[in-house]
Amino acid sequence: MAKMKALTKKFPKKGIWLENVDKPTIGDNDVLIKVSKMAICGTDLHIYLWDEWAKNTIPVGMTIGHEYVGTIVEIGSNVHGFSIGDKVTGEGHTVCGSCRHCRTGSKHLCKATSSIGVNINGSFAEYVKLPYDNVWKCIDSIDDSVYSIFDPFGNAVHTTLSYDVFGKNVLVTGAGPIGIMAGMIAKHLRAKNVIITDVNPYRIELAKKVGLHVVDVSSSSITDKAKQLNIDGFDVGLEMSGNPFAFNDMIESMAIGGNISLLAIQKPDVQVDWNKIVFGALNLKGIYGREMFKTWYQMQDLLETGLDLSPVITHTFKFEDFQKGFDLMEKGNCGKIILEWD
Ligand code: NAD
Ligand code: ZN
Repeated sequence: MAKMKALTKKFPKKGIWLENVDKPTIGDNDVLIKVSKMAICGTDLHIYLWDEWAKNTIPVGMTIGHEYVGTIVEIGSNVHGFSIGDKVTGEGHTVCGSCRHCRTGSKHLCKATSSIGVNINGSFAEYVKLPYDNVWKCIDSIDDSVYSIFDPFGNAVHTTLSYDVFGKNVLVTGAGPIGIMAGMIAKHLRAKNVIITDVNPYRIELAKKVGLHVVDVSSSSITDKAKQLNIDGFDVGLEMSGNPFAFNDMIESMAIGGNISLLAIQKPDVQVDWNKIVFGALNLKGIYGREMFKTWYQMQDLLETGLDLSPVITHTFKFEDFQKGFDLMEKGNCGKIILEWD
């Protein structure tokens, strides 16, 4: 069997290992993609650190990774609309195609979703295989590095576009790469004010650099910033931190009748004052993944109308230097980190 290099979760402990693994063989409905650039996701960091979630989810020995761009090198016999040589990226959630949600145009709500790099072999490798239904063809005017972060960009787009932000006051809690992209999207779509919060100095600087109003919640308050900008409650809240204090700050800071989208994974025991939600007449929406493929068209539209994501990409390393990337991710001293083959 032909072999390839890949980053795998070889052992059930902290770390990630560069291994020779079997090159994927494709089925009739799959394409084989030669990967050129990959980006490290927070999920990959959980897998690297081997936390409780990873222990309960990740098969030991699996190839990780799900953010990438590459070129099609092989196509299955049932594949339509794609050719060898196409530059592509892909939706990492595979769906059943036959449940009620799949058949009514809501594939993102499929009950039988699997994720590449989480449940099935991923893209931190020389090659990745993907059902052709999940493949997204790239256009030349958008940079390869930007395509390599389409997956998290899609999370940001799905979350931010869940409610109307035009002319609205928007609060983003958590200036990780997805929070910062969400803030940039809201600004691009002419939100009146966009405020983002964090506690990590690197992320705070990055958020300032892309032109967002930033609150360091370790030393100042959202309320003070809101007063300063004449904001009487936020119309839209985007929770991107997973920190229970941030979520509670958000509930506290919303306008009556405001809309909250929750992307970040919350702690199971997070305490919330439910009556603030009841009497504040707040709407809460949980977000998982990207809408297939509405979000993907929206991503392309945002980029083609001038949204510039390049400042979010802060580091690029050779694939073999993956450890440098994981070390930076662990400290949070980065935006998006890209690994590339020579
Ligand atoms: P990240 O961990 O890089 O960013 C989270 C940020 O929150 C960090 O910069 C951290 O310093 C900041 N933070 C910590 N405490 C805070 C506080 N009290 N107030 C404000 N900010 C605080 O994560 P990311 O890659 O940007 O992703 C954002 C979140 O979305 C993560 O929780 C991730 O797991 C989740 N996620 C969910 C989905 C989904 O489908 N639902 C998909 C992708 C990512
Ligand atoms: Zn389904």
